[in-house]
Amino acid sequence: MVNLLTLAVFATIDEAAISGLKHAAAICDPQYECGGVVRAVPGGFEASALISSKRPFGVDLAEFYGPEVVADFHTHVCSIHNQAFADFFSMSDAIVNQELHTVGYMLSLCDWNIRRYDPSQDDRDDEEVDFRSGRVIYLTCGHIVGWVPPLPEEEVALELTVVRRRNRLTTHST
Ligand SMILES: [Zn+2]
Repeated sequence: MVNLLTLAVFATIDEAAISGLKHAAAICDPQYECGGVVRAVPGGFEASALISSKRPFGVDLAEFYGPEVVADFHTHVCSIHNQAFADFFSMSDAIVNQELHTVGYMLSLCDWNIRRYDPSQDDRDDEEVDFRSGRVIYLTCGHIVGWVPPLPEEEVALELTVVRRRNRLTTHST
């Protein structure tokens, strides 16, 4: 099932990225950022396989980047440390999309919305975030293009079990 999703060709970049993020919400460990890229292929766009950073912040998608990449997508974990930032593109998220001329998609595991940041259309650093300490920073919010239903705890556990079994099968066949 994982492979079918990965190979599906979509008519739009939005559809491919949203499908990639729904896939990420279903199978990635919610403690770590997870993401992939969207590539232009004959007939449309496809989402790459998913990669997890094994870290709560930042996922390096460099190995996926190439001339056919038109967008990237990643999750933001929701923990007490980053609740204030999870719904925004980070400074480095926005810089990567600006420099590579790609569209960024991000799923916040806090509000479960999928946001899109297109450097050629959306403002960068358009949202003021105030801290109780008095510190103020500016982050990029892009705009909402979709959402994923939050997974109740039990379903997360179930998904993880299924993924482990799938992985074993994959290992077996290679
Ligand atoms: Zn990010």
